[in-house]
Amino acid sequence: DQTTVAFVGLGHMGAPMAANLVRAGVRVIGFDLMPAALDAARAAGAEIAESGAAAAAQADIVLTMLPSGQHVLSAYADGADGSPGLLSSAKPGSLMLDCSTISVAEAQQAAQLANAVGHRSADAPVSGGVVGAEAGSLAFMVGAPEDVFADVYPILDVMGGRIVHCGANGLGQAAKVCNNMILAVSQIAVAEAFVLGEGLGLTHQALFDVASNATGQCWALNTNCPVPGPVPTSPANRDYQPGFAGALMAKDLGLALAAIEQTGTQADLGRHAEEIYRRFRDEDGGAGTDFSGIINVIREKSDH
Ligand code: NAD
Repeated sequence: DQTTVAFVGLGHMGAPMAANLVRAGVRVIGFDLMPAALDAARAAGAEIAESGAAAAAQADIVLTMLPSGQHVLSAYADGADGSPGLLSSAKPGSLMLDCSTISVAEAQQAAQLANAVGHRSADAPVSGGVVGAEAGSLAFMVGAPEDVFADVYPILDVMGGRIVHCGANGLGQAAKVCNNMILAVSQIAVAEAFVLGEGLGLTHQALFDVASNATGQCWALNTNCPVPGPVPTSPANRDYQPGFAGALMAKDLGLALAAIEQTGTQADLGRHAEEIYRRFRDEDGGAGTDFSGIINVIREKSDH
């Protein structure tokens, strides 16, 4: 039996993910609010529905790839005008698969709403960006009951490289938020170290040669090195073109902050990173810049 996927949200990430499903022989019925996104999906071989609800009504799996948790919850719900949402349109027992990055609390709420009307549910946020979406090599972090994970695995396998079952509903988002908090804090730490080294007269290459092979090594240094030169493929070598844009890092840290507050966790560095990247996005012009560009803010604010 051919699996039918309703694909709601065909943006930067959703479009290439849907195209990979089509290429693998999955029947994809797409919907987006933007006509241009629908045209592109049609050209890639997807069927197009006139609403998310119409797509969901024909599907086994209802995949959402939307900007935020508010978008997901409002797409799930019926409209104020009585128009049906995804949950009330999907066939009973459908699998609701949300791949958007949303808060842990919103993901748990989405799962409860889906379960309450007899659907199964998984949160499966991704990392790997547009490049990973196009290559079908995304990392998926999945929160779902065991049987739901097993059923959703083949579809994720088409779009992804590494797929980790993190636990119950919401724990996919939990893993994503914890990973990105590590990433943000380490990228700031690496940037501060390079600027400190500049102040001390240390060359970028010398610091890199030592730290990238010593206990300072991490992805933010070894792969996403924030100064041009030592790692030719890092965004610093192309004027900080993303990569991973400051706006997306600030968004993800906002979700980390919500989780820190929800759980009452002592996370001084996570909180500070959220503040630094929110300012980077809103005041320092970093929204469209790779998040490693934070080094330029640190250098400007330094006295040397
Ligand atoms: P995007 O803004 O490019 O795409 C979202 C799409 O959803 C848009 O085309 C929009 O028109 C559509 N949309 C909004 N509301 C809708 C509705 N009610 N019904 C149908 N379509 C609707 O965003 P993106 O970059 O594709 O990101 C999607 C999600 O993936 C976000 O949660 C983001 O945080 C996450 N993410 C993005 C990246 C990345 O590099 N872009 C990486 C990892 C995770």
